[in-house]
Amino acid sequence: MKYLLVLLVVLAGVWIWRSRRAAERPPAPLTPPPPARRPLAQPSAMVACRHCGLHLPASDALAGPDGPYCSAEHLRLGPAQRTGRVRDAN
Ligand SMILES: [Zn+2]
Repeated sequence: MKYLLVLLVVLAGVWIWRSRRAAERPPAPLTPPPPARRPLAQPSAMVACRHCGLHLPASDALAGPDGPYCSAEHLRLGPAQRTGRVRDAN
């Protein structure tokens, strides 16, 4: 009878030890962890077309002798002629 009591105490100790280990362990993730976040794209510099004033990324602009242009046509036409009136909508 004495050995049965010792066995019960040992089994209770093992049960308590195992339940504490299970509680300490973080739960297994149900879904895979999200992939590492890729860094945000760096903002690109914006430039204004010298002819029409359109703002576009500097990487898309055509470099003219006197500044950036939005298209080859505006590069050919050159800088807008400032005559004091509102910019024509071409
Ligand atoms: Zn333009």
